[in-house]
Amino acid sequence: MLTDNIIEIFSSIQGEGKYVGCRQVFVRFEGCNLHCSYCDTEKESGKHSVCHAETGAGNRGFMDLPNPLTVDEVASHVNAMLREVPHQAVSFTGGEPLLHAKFIEEIGPMLQVPIMLETNGTLWQEMERLADVASIVSMDIKLPSVTGTEEWDNHSRFLQAARDLDLYIKLVVSAETTDEEFQRAVQLVAMHAPDKLFILQPVTPNEACHAASPERVLYLQNLALQSLDDVRVIPQTHKIMGQM
Ligand code: SF4
Repeated sequence: MLTDNIIEIFSSIQGEGKYVGCRQVFVRFEGCNLHCSYCDTEKESGKHSVCHAETGAGNRGFMDLPNPLTVDEVASHVNAMLREVPHQAVSFTGGEPLLHAKFIEEIGPMLQVPIMLETNGTLWQEMERLADVASIVSMDIKLPSVTGTEEWDNHSRFLQAARDLDLYIKLVVSAETTDEEFQRAVQLVAMHAPDKLFILQPVTPNEACHAASPERVLYLQNLALQSLDDVRVIPQTHKIMGQM
């Protein structure tokens, strides 16, 4: 039986992107292949001996389930929440969920609602593998000023792998975002997925990453609107609401 380390399972309100405000179950995996300056989640693998699993959908009571968990154990826990409260989707997040493509491939058909991936948009081969399992893809474009790496080719292939699904693209903007990298990201989307929603998410600032000014955000939205039809600015709302 396939097993994996899960950090947490809980029911909450989607705080970002196209489905902001929707009730979802979140399954958070360990590990990531990138190192973003604004990252606020655990990126290391093998650090979680237990999974914090909510005991009921949204009751904010938690129990510790020993890791690793089997596909059956996670499916059973998630399905209990889905029976309790109607949810719009189950969101696999991280870290980077596509590092766990095999687990998602197995559990996807066992769940009764759409499968959503919240991904950094670089693991395109894993995205191809999950194209029949996931229906919603929240794809980030990661800029060199954030990761210190160039992910353009990976992002290009990822857009091609996911564009037939319910895909939207999210780009975190900060004071460090340069015009050049922003324009390159917009052109990539215009080339491969011009009909998809493009979301600018103002960064939640930390020591390494500072907020873009309101004027700068307006300027960047205007730049994107020169090439794309649907460009929206949506911040991280779960933090405003005090949700997980
Ligand atoms: S891709 Fe996401 S999880 Fe990975 S380092 Fe960046 S913000 Fe953190």
